[in-house]
Amino acid sequence: MGRQVDFFKVRLEFVESGGVLAEQIPVGAEPESTLQLCLETDFTKRAHLPPTTVAGSLRAHVAAQRDASEARRYFGHAPDAEDDERAVSSMIAVLGTRACDGGQKEERSRTAISAHTGAPTPGSLRRAELATAGTAWDISFRCDRATRDDIDDLTSLLRSWRPIIGRGATVGHGQAKVLAVAHGRLDLGNPADLLSYLNSGGPILVDDVVGAYDFDPQNEGSDPTDDPAELYELVCEIVGPIHVGDGSRTPRGEPSRIVRVDGKPIMLASSVKGVLRSRMSYILRSVRKDGEWCSCTEDDYCVICHAFGFTDRQSRASRARYSYRGRLRFFDSPIDGEPSVRINSPIDRFTGGAAHQTWPGGSDQAGDHRFWSRSGLLHSLEVMETGRFRIRIDDLGFDDQHHGDVFKALLRLTVEDINDGHVTFGRGGTRGFGRVNIGNADDALVPLSEAQATLRTLIDQEDRTRDDTLA
Ligand SMILES: [Zn+2]
Repeated sequence: MGRQVDFFKVRLEFVESGGVLAEQIPVGAEPESTLQLCLETDFTKRAHLPPTTVAGSLRAHVAAQRDASEARRYFGHAPDAEDDERAVSSMIAVLGTRACDGGQKEERSRTAISAHTGAPTPGSLRRAELATAGTAWDISFRCDRATRDDIDDLTSLLRSWRPIIGRGATVGHGQAKVLAVAHGRLDLGNPADLLSYLNSGGPILVDDVVGAYDFDPQNEGSDPTDDPAELYELVCEIVGPIHVGDGSRTPRGEPSRIVRVDGKPIMLASSVKGVLRSRMSYILRSVRKDGEWCSCTEDDYCVICHAFGFTDRQSRASRARYSYRGRLRFFDSPIDGEPSVRINSPIDRFTGGAAHQTWPGGSDQAGDHRFWSRSGLLHSLEVMETGRFRIRIDDLGFDDQHHGDVFKALLRLTVEDINDGHVTFGRGGTRGFGRVNIGNADDALVPLSEAQATLRTLIDQEDRTRDDTLA
């Protein structure tokens, strides 16, 4: 018996929309036009999941299910200077991923909410293309030096794999599950096997070698998002009109549209995440004596960054850029109720009358002038006046118990601020827009007294550190 090579094919299905995206500025676009995020494609222009993403996710799964040394054994490691170890190559190679036929694309837009002002950051609008929920992917792996036991172990690891892949993982994108696993083996001592090994390669070879998919009926109906470590579900009753825009440019005379998915008005996960992050930062800032809320160092994250994650920080030592995926996942929520249209006419600050559009200089067409000077700044927007939506947050588990407790307290205090009208969703918070009432805080969250006690402990700790510094 000669050398053997094992191959796996895995059918992965997105439970939520998602994908690995690449930043792209459309050809011929204005320099300041909206940045586009498009699905990564392979050399045939088909959407794919980059092999590095897949391998990284699977490695993390092995480390979580078995341990770090098993992850090193399967996926190799760099030389370790202290132990004088050699670099070891990975037993597993991801050969390719392909979107199966039938996957659709959808488009989302989102803005970044400033942690300081709580308002959208100018210029942060992004349009993102995503693969819809239900998109299936075939992933091909090759595995060298594997024993029979390794193959059984890998098969069971692949079956229990529930990766969250790509961008937007913390706002309800990219959760996937494995529908089926297929395995095959080539014995290079066998002339027929050797011939196919030499004549073919990549996913095509894998297709030939592995047997039919073994679909697991239990996985077929399951939804990994049904089973989070901990779940908060807050029922929000709309008190003031809510407008969360879809980011599209509105033709003149038409109301600004609210964001919809499949025709239904929704509250975006990213909006809710931004609003909560901003308020929790505010609460922490007001507790700290120096007014700083983020005390992150490279290996010690503050509770906000731990909970919500961050992107694109620069390491002081190596100057490399790094990101961290937060421990919370937020989800889009449909808003029940019918949208209506509100008309706004801004008031001129000097005259107190209706404000008028400034004359656009340079035009010498009298018709234009009459049109502009009479039209004023009247504009209309779609709003949800009444209705209900749910804020759903999955807590994936904090490594640091203390951070988990502080987060729970901050969430409870933020909900109090929402109910008191200090925190609003969407546009026009200063005009009474975006107010909601959360009625089930007592059932869903830690008691208010407990949250206040946690914050008081934080203040005491601050006082002690300050006294120490002064002494
Ligand atoms: Zn931080």
